[in-house]
Amino acid sequence: MRPLLHPTLLNGRFGDPVLCLETLFEKQIMLCDLGTVDVLSSREIQRIEHVFVSHAHIDHFIGFDRILRILVGREKQVHLYGPPDFADRVRHKLSGYQWNLAASYLCDLAFIVTEIHPSFATRTVSFRLKNGFAPEEIGCGFAAGGLILNGASFRVHGAVLDHRTPCLAFAITEVAHVNIWKTELAKLGLPIGPWLHDLKRAVLGGAPDDLKIQIEAPELANGSREIELGALRNVYKITPGQKIGYVTDIGDTPDNRRGVVQLVEGADILFIEAPFIGADRALAAERAHLTTVAAGEIARAAKIRHVEPFHFSPRYAGQEQRMLAEVAEAFVGTCRPETGHKYA
Ligand SMILES: [Zn+2]
Repeated sequence: MRPLLHPTLLNGRFGDPVLCLETLFEKQIMLCDLGTVDVLSSREIQRIEHVFVSHAHIDHFIGFDRILRILVGREKQVHLYGPPDFADRVRHKLSGYQWNLAASYLCDLAFIVTEIHPSFATRTVSFRLKNGFAPEEIGCGFAAGGLILNGASFRVHGAVLDHRTPCLAFAITEVAHVNIWKTELAKLGLPIGPWLHDLKRAVLGGAPDDLKIQIEAPELANGSREIELGALRNVYKITPGQKIGYVTDIGDTPDNRRGVVQLVEGADILFIEAPFIGADRALAAERAHLTTVAAGEIARAAKIRHVEPFHFSPRYAGQEQRMLAEVAEAFVGTCRPETGHKYA
């Protein structure tokens, strides 16, 4: 089964951080961070539904204006998630423009902004074009266990880390897939049909073996049949969903390392910042960033399958292979300089 989520670093390893996650079978696009998004077409921007912003340093948030520019005048909702005070930053961005004619627009554009606080308390504020983007408090909540988005096909967990300001890291997990074996269906004389959706739902919901599944199809005698879930065991296989981690702009501290490992443990792919080479760890510490070596060590500790370092400092332009090699050496895993182009 192909994974549902397809991640791409929009600006490569040296450019502004933006991880674009396209979802197979669904039109929507998710972004982690919102640096420059000039490479996204207007059509792609219209598919954006969720944007997870680690923190509001300019290289992580300057792309908001382009999204706003493209979406004004269209009927659209975009959900944004960010650290404490994030709703105020969105408000300041929006109030930098004049909206005196906004009420006359036919379509409404809404940004639904959720702040994630270190205690996992949340605050959600809406900004609608037709209301001149005045803030409207939606309410406060709690992201239990760090779960900030519980979608039909994926879940997003967050962790609040330290970059001398609260900085969010994210883990995006696909909901498990249920694959159907058509040959096994044929052996049982069962047709393909809408009933398979009920079967998948029952399996993912952990239904008991004696649950009766109703099959309705014209090719069956009497047009329908009932069968217990337990009798269908050979018909399906559960494949765990893909897990993708996104970690950027954190100081190399024991608390941050612990927080990252807890969040992204066992991920299939970890996108992790590695702005400085190992020898420049003093500089990295001064700027509250990781080195290549720290990024590799964290990926190893979190038992990641594949690590994708990014946010390389421009001071190392032309040294990408060296930086990848340093991460790989610390990771001692599957990241080699010759791999890792797929998602960059
Ligand atoms: Zn930063």
